[in-house]
Amino acid sequence: NQRLSQKVAIVTGGSRGIGAAIVERLAKEGASVAFTYASSEDAATMLVERVAAAGGKAMAIRSDAADAKAVQDAVKQTVDVFGRLDILVNNAGVLHWSPFETFSLEDFDKTVAVNVRSVFVASQAAAKHMGDGGRIINIGSCNADRVPSAGGGVYAMSKSALVGLAAGLARDLGPRGITVNNVQPGPTDTDMNPQNGDHAPGLHDIMAIRRHARPEEVAGMVAYLAGPEAGMVTGANLRIDGGFAA
Ligand code: NDP
Repeated sequence: NQRLSQKVAIVTGGSRGIGAAIVERLAKEGASVAFTYASSEDAATMLVERVAAAGGKAMAIRSDAADAKAVQDAVKQTVDVFGRLDILVNNAGVLHWSPFETFSLEDFDKTVAVNVRSVFVASQAAAKHMGDGGRIINIGSCNADRVPSAGGGVYAMSKSALVGLAAGLARDLGPRGITVNNVQPGPTDTDMNPQNGDHAPGLHDIMAIRRHARPEEVAGMVAYLAGPEAGMVTGANLRIDGGFAA
């Protein structure tokens, strides 16, 4: 008897990294999982096959998070195919970390469109279909609490926005039994932030647990929030950052 059987989830940005680990974990717990991606078609196809081989159900949808209509369509397609929607994980994100003096407006707009606006759009579209027990889980960042080097202001701003949005949406959706939470990972071993990258030693120096997280560790916290035990956790900001911000 799986914890998330009968549940349907959609994960944005699920083709690689933390999102892919979340897709696999929710599917392993019995949920039918749709996920979006922007360009990594091969990775998306392989993930669907990996989930199927493990006895789960996943569906890949090409949908650019910067395009509101595409995000709304992905939610609709999920409901059309799987018949309902219980869990939304807003994971898609981009990282532009570069000097403030030359930071381009284009990178600013892209950061806000993917990291913030898509979360609002997906949450609004998904909440329409959710009933009691619905779950909205955002992937923020430890950089909302701590920016350890220059150039991260815009990224940190985008992730701080998710803290306020989760608190506010928790109030909007609480009366319907839907929880909304923000998860703040620290350095996590993905293409975005490889644990053997140039910046890794400097990041480990300021952490209490001096290593990158594995994407599966973040997926574990998301799975907890997605499940029935977490019904009283809402409007919360949960760090999983090895003490990065402690
Ligand atoms: P990756 O860059 O490794 O993977 C990003 C995923 O998001 C890919 O599946 C990518 O798909 C998808 N994606 C990117 N842009 C878009 C878009 N416009 N539309 C749809 N999908 C998109 O990142 P991580 O797995 O490391 O990060 C996942 C989330 O976790 C992000 O929100 C990030 O900010 C956050 N985070 C990451 C940390 C880390 O150390 N890794 C730490 C704290 C937070 P595709 O390849 O098809 O474009």
